[in-house]
Amino acid sequence: MTVLIAGGGIAGLSLGLTLHEIGVPFRVYESVRSIRPLGVGINLQPNAVRELDDLGLADRLGEIGIPTEEWVLASAEGNEVYAEPRGLAAGYRWPQYSVHRGRLQMLLHDALVERAGADHVVVGHRFVDASQTPSGVTATFEDRATGARVAIDGELLVGADGLHSAVRRGFAPDEGPPVWGGAVLWRGTAFGPPVRTGASFVLLGSLDQRFVHYPIAPVEPSTGRQLQNWIAELTFDPAEGWGSSDWNRRVETDTFAPAFADWDVGWLDVPSLIAGADEVFEYPMVDRDPIDRWVDGRIALMGDAAHVMYPVGSNGASQAIVDARVLGRRLVDHGVGPAALSAYEADLHEDVSALVLRNRGAGPIAILGEVDRRCGGVFDDIDDVIPPAEVEAFMAGYKAAAGFAMDTLNAAAPTIAPGEKA
Ligand SMILES: Cc1cc2nc3c(=O)[nH]c(=O)nc-3n(C[C@H](O)[C@H](O)[C@H](O)COP(=O)(O)OP(=O)(O)OC[C@H]3O[C@@H](n4cnc5c(N)ncnc54)[C@H](O)[C@@H]3O)c2cc1C
Repeated sequence: MTVLIAGGGIAGLSLGLTLHEIGVPFRVYESVRSIRPLGVGINLQPNAVRELDDLGLADRLGEIGIPTEEWVLASAEGNEVYAEPRGLAAGYRWPQYSVHRGRLQMLLHDALVERAGADHVVVGHRFVDASQTPSGVTATFEDRATGARVAIDGELLVGADGLHSAVRRGFAPDEGPPVWGGAVLWRGTAFGPPVRTGASFVLLGSLDQRFVHYPIAPVEPSTGRQLQNWIAELTFDPAEGWGSSDWNRRVETDTFAPAFADWDVGWLDVPSLIAGADEVFEYPMVDRDPIDRWVDGRIALMGDAAHVMYPVGSNGASQAIVDARVLGRRLVDHGVGPAALSAYEADLHEDVSALVLRNRGAGPIAILGEVDRRCGGVFDDIDDVIPPAEVEAFMAGYKAAAGFAMDTLNAAAPTIAPGEKA
């Protein structure tokens, strides 16, 4: 009855924890030979925090995350376009967290190993291909230490192997590389004085050139400074191409820092934050066209393998966690077999595919595009440019589409109630 999970990132580890909770045997097969805390900041929306809370991880998450208090859009000159409370400050029952991606991955990994045993996460095993019969699935992995191919039998296979998913290639063999729309992100962390509330998510600029900033650690009492995540983004002609997308490609800052040289807006000093980063990672912002199905018999996709999306709404990791929980729910309902996978797909495929396209269209920050269109980004009173009610209605629509509309979420029954087993 073993569920084979290809990929030990945020999605695969969340699924492992869920399967352990509901009593389903599983193994996670991860390509890298040791799981290390890679990446920089990400945000977890309350719909994902709720699920991690139900997995008994609230305290640990509280130790590594900063509960986001507000979400702010501002012009390149630093004039506020829109601000709204987030997480507990907005009235959600669960926080929104800003967190270091690598620390989150280690938290999930350590919790899984403690609960299920170290033999449940098999590192150094790269998924190669799979075949299935009416009664089971066989997945082949390359043992990266020896180069040997290892065939493992299971009841189901879940592809949680991220942006360049090999499991997805079985669903869309002609798909090719991810789609680049012209934006390039440079990501880093640096220490700086707290900005606004000290727990604010801030986006400055326009659709073509912007800077995202949020803290990922508490203020240090001795220095008054705080570790802050930043993302600088510029837009190029997509016809020129940018090379492959790799989350971990280190670069120097000279390609992009000059474009932000005069972006010290008083309350946020962009040039200092860029100069203060020890390491900077370059990532051409990519996604993939939605595919018709995430499930083929006994094989399913989840997380970025199913629906890699632009990070404009901060919901890639959140959706990966929700996927794991919905899949768990359906295993409880239908038992460990193809019917559970089909039900999982029916729950999520259509809405999340629409979200991928919505984020390609700039997601929640499309407001900045609208402000640019109406006044070129220059204004005295933003309410004359775009009435607050219009922005609020737009944001409410986005949250509903992304699964974190507050009233709905606060009133929802748990995805998996305590004690439920498959
Ligand atoms: C090193 C790294 C750094 C990242 N940094 C950021 C960041 O700073 N900001 C941000 O917004 N997002 C970042 N991401 C992406 C973010 O984690 C995902 O968008 C989101 O969390 C969805 O999670 P996922 O588990 O689907 O994908 P991922 O978290 O990408 O996990 C996929 C996992 O599958 C493994 N894998 C890949 N191919 C195979 C294979 N053939 N067989 C077995 N295992 C395989 C990978 O090593 C990885 O551990 C990063 C991803 C990675 C891998």
